[in-house]
Amino acid sequence: MNLCVLGAQWGDEGKGKIVDLLTPRFTIVARYQGGHNAGHTVYVGGRKFVLHLIPSGILHDGIVCVIGNGVVVDPHALFAEMDELHALGIDTRGRLLVSDRAHLILPYHRELDILAEARRGERKIGTTSRGIGPAYEDKIGRRGIRVGDLADTSDEGPLAHAVRENVAARNRLVGNTDLHADELLADLRGLWPRLQPLVADVSVCLHRAVSAGQRVLFEGAQGTLLDIDHGTYPFVTSSNATAGGAATGLGIGPRTIGAVLGVAKAYTTRVGEGPLPTELTGALGDRLRETGQEFGASTGRPRRCGWYDAVAVRYAARVNGLDALALTKLDVLDGLPELQVCTAYRCRGAVVTEMPGDTAQFAECEPVYETLPGWRQPTRGITAFGDLPREAQAYIARLEAASGVPAAVVSTGSERDHTIIKDARLLG
Ligand code: GDP
Repeated sequence: MNLCVLGAQWGDEGKGKIVDLLTPRFTIVARYQGGHNAGHTVYVGGRKFVLHLIPSGILHDGIVCVIGNGVVVDPHALFAEMDELHALGIDTRGRLLVSDRAHLILPYHRELDILAEARRGERKIGTTSRGIGPAYEDKIGRRGIRVGDLADTSDEGPLAHAVRENVAARNRLVGNTDLHADELLADLRGLWPRLQPLVADVSVCLHRAVSAGQRVLFEGAQGTLLDIDHGTYPFVTSSNATAGGAATGLGIGPRTIGAVLGVAKAYTTRVGEGPLPTELTGALGDRLRETGQEFGASTGRPRRCGWYDAVAVRYAARVNGLDALALTKLDVLDGLPELQVCTAYRCRGAVVTEMPGDTAQFAECEPVYETLPGWRQPTRGITAFGDLPREAQAYIARLEAASGVPAAVVSTGSERDHTIIKDARLLG
């Protein structure tokens, strides 16, 4: 069965590790949304790899990696990542495909991102300033430039026309400097020879592969609570990180997806602005941040940390149709005397068990906690569920019950083999 692996919280759940771990079961790994704002950190044999745009499956020889139409592509960032992988001994040649329909992130998108955040002032979203949001705005505004458009080399063709229009719009908005359309066009023309061999009709490729019995892993970036439709709007990313995004972002039918695996930390983190009901701001928050190394892989920003929010994960289970969870970073909780799990919210005088759609209301939600005993023995590197301390087993069981989804995988460290496969049947 094909499998979609996505974030069940606010991103940074450890999707990179889980995708890397499961990749040998598949032939193709396909990214369906987001851009190089993602930062998937994977440790293999003590070596660290950080992937932003290229699917984490690339670390395995022979796996074909696909960047779908739902992704926004900064070609310079793509090439830089390919070069970095080559320098680390990973050969991407012949096994990396980019959709002809993926939209490009161009220099004016980055500038407009920074400008928009500055204009929002106190109400900033906390974007990565990489131009992702403005590139999606252009896509929806029907003025975007797509990867396949770069094939047009004529001076008066649709590509030159679109670049001139977009650059003129940028120059009207960004007051003190001018961008030159012809320079940008020349840059794009220079990129094409390297990009062209990667460009493909991804929908056709996937359809053929699936028809031939090959298995595909669909890789999500960011997380469910950052989804443009289902996240805590407006503190969200600009694409559909949820399972539906895999269908639209790759050109496959929803039934092709097969099973959906939600990756969730055994606690909660969030980077950027927006409500986070279980946030811990004192010493406990610092303890989770330090032990969990909760600093953004893309920006280095400290992540906000808090207790596991089962209401949020239950919500993720519903909007994605989760079949199973991969619970990560259990080891980070080692040594804490007791743990809290948020099972409901108290909001405006009522107890609520579903996430409110209104972000202002969500910001007023106070967690209703259940307290569980912690464990003293280290769990790091444990590979069998039965070897976990009794309290850790009970904690996992409580997270499963409170979230309404069984755990297929429990991760006990950043390395590939620091993993418990709790129920392989749930992985399709
Ligand atoms: P992603 O974007 O969802 O892939 O997540 P990130 O890469 O931003 O953050 C996850 C971080 O946690 C990475 O540095 C991983 O190496 C690390 N990680 C993943 N699983 C575990 C785990 O079980 N234990 C610990 N201690 N670290 C983990």
